[in-house]
Amino acid sequence: MSLEENLQRFRSISAELSTLTGIQALLGWDQQVMMPVAASEERGQQLALIGGLIYDKSASDEVGKLLDELSREVGDLDADNDLAREIKLAKHSYEQATKVPKALMMDFITTTARSQTAWIQAKPANDYASFQPHLQRVIEISREMADCFKPWDHPYDALLDQYEPGMKTAEVQDIFNALRPRQIELLRQIASCEQVDDSFRFARMDVAMQRKLTEYVAGLIGYEWQRGRLDESLHPFTTNFGREDVRITTHFKENDGLSAFFSTMHETGHALYELGIDRRWNGTWLSNAASMSMHESQSRLWENLVGRSQPFWQFFYPTMQAFFPEALGNVSQESFYRGINKVNPSLIRIEADEASYNLHIMLRLELEIGMIEGKIHSRELPAIWNDKMEEYLGHRPDNDREGVLQDVHWPGGMIGYFSTYALGNLISAQLWEKMLQDQPSVPEDMAWGHFAGILQWLRENVHRHGLRYSSQDLVKRITGHGIDPDPYMRYLTEKYRAIYQF
Ligand code: ZN
Repeated sequence: MSLEENLQRFRSISAELSTLTGIQALLGWDQQVMMPVAASEERGQQLALIGGLIYDKSASDEVGKLLDELSREVGDLDADNDLAREIKLAKHSYEQATKVPKALMMDFITTTARSQTAWIQAKPANDYASFQPHLQRVIEISREMADCFKPWDHPYDALLDQYEPGMKTAEVQDIFNALRPRQIELLRQIASCEQVDDSFRFARMDVAMQRKLTEYVAGLIGYEWQRGRLDESLHPFTTNFGREDVRITTHFKENDGLSAFFSTMHETGHALYELGIDRRWNGTWLSNAASMSMHESQSRLWENLVGRSQPFWQFFYPTMQAFFPEALGNVSQESFYRGINKVNPSLIRIEADEASYNLHIMLRLELEIGMIEGKIHSRELPAIWNDKMEEYLGHRPDNDREGVLQDVHWPGGMIGYFSTYALGNLISAQLWEKMLQDQPSVPEDMAWGHFAGILQWLRENVHRHGLRYSSQDLVKRITGHGIDPDPYMRYLTEKYRAIYQF
């Protein structure tokens, strides 16, 4: 067959796969947002069937042959050519899917399902001992799966690659080693200052009003309601069923009204990225986000660099006060701004402030790598966790519920995921610095309630490219540097120096 014919056949299979993936995501969204509890068994069967169809189609011999031929045919093209990139990514993904034997993949699915069930019971009971054998099995299977991708420099490379394609363990370690002492020092400085009051955060805020306000802010920063919707789920998330239906969820708490507000800005940031990918990549491998860290850079940028900034609240605070006069009527804009940026090193990652968040991630990464290398046994994990928490954040958990049992990632088999959160923070500040050079009026625009310039810059520089470039290459193209901790530390230091007066 000619290149043209092979490509046409391959693209038609890719388009069918996108459609199936969209249906799978719709079933998943419904499961978390709408589905009655009694349907979980049936939904499990539906998801298993569609998951199997996707696996068979994407890992078929026909796709393998097409990709071999296409790789030969595009071999002469410049590595920077769109088509060469598309075929290279598709081939990489095919290899990912086929290098792991089906039996091992099924073992992984059943093991992680069991370990999640064990974790759901162990966490509230503070019973690490009952969860530990499950975690050990997850680590062993993850290691076996990593072995399927040899040769590598480090077994963890193969696990990291699932979420952060092309990134190496040693590169992440170098970045984090440069960052760690500076974050710890910043926390120490802040702790020695007079602390800020954020008690207003926990006043009652009517949920119906919170819902109106979250819809308002999502639309204000550019979410298109004809291409998405905002619903409620236990844990906020973003999902898409195609390029024209990208949905977000939030979770309202009556006694912490800002939780839903910031989580909505966060998820809107994820959604804006998905919605901004150029439609010309539709149905191809390039029609995806660059990586999880690039995704997280977008959510964090809107949540923190916009949503927790002074100019944003110059514009938005009168609206906020009008929505919640009882809770905020007597709180000045300055006190509000300082309160929402209070640094309060917490034991819980998802409650962490901007100054301490990355330290939670570094701790997890060190433990994951140690377990995958076989240097840390899961039995020793709680003690090592607690020691490191004390060293990094100055707090020692007195139970495992608030320690090693807190996150769903390890029971769920998502070994390799955590570092993308911290890398996303670093990228968000790098992008922000460059955007301010290109558009110095951004802070003033925000204070007037104009956010279109920010979105336009992100669309042009980040979103439209989809998976055209890896996240590392994209950051370099935009900023001239690889992923770099300096801009993030500059951002944090400047911000907290003003708030804490050091
Ligand atoms: Zn996120």
